[in-house]
Amino acid sequence: MMHLECECGNSTNFFATGDRDEQGREYIELEDDDRFSFVIGEDSVVFKCGFCGYRYRLKSYE
Ligand SMILES: [Zn+2]
Repeated sequence: MMHLECECGNSTNFFATGDRDEQGREYIELEDDDRFSFVIGEDSVVFKCGFCGYRYRLKSYE
């Protein structure tokens, strides 16, 4: 599954939940939400490292 790693060495994975939406896209969740948290905004998703507090922003280009 997908892997998420901060520069400080903190890392976690996403896992597939087995649930799908009506278009067949499977939902994924963070394996360990103590290590990373994320906030979904209007045009981006912000991941925050739970160890060092660094934040990464993934922008939507739709
Ligand atoms: Zn970090």
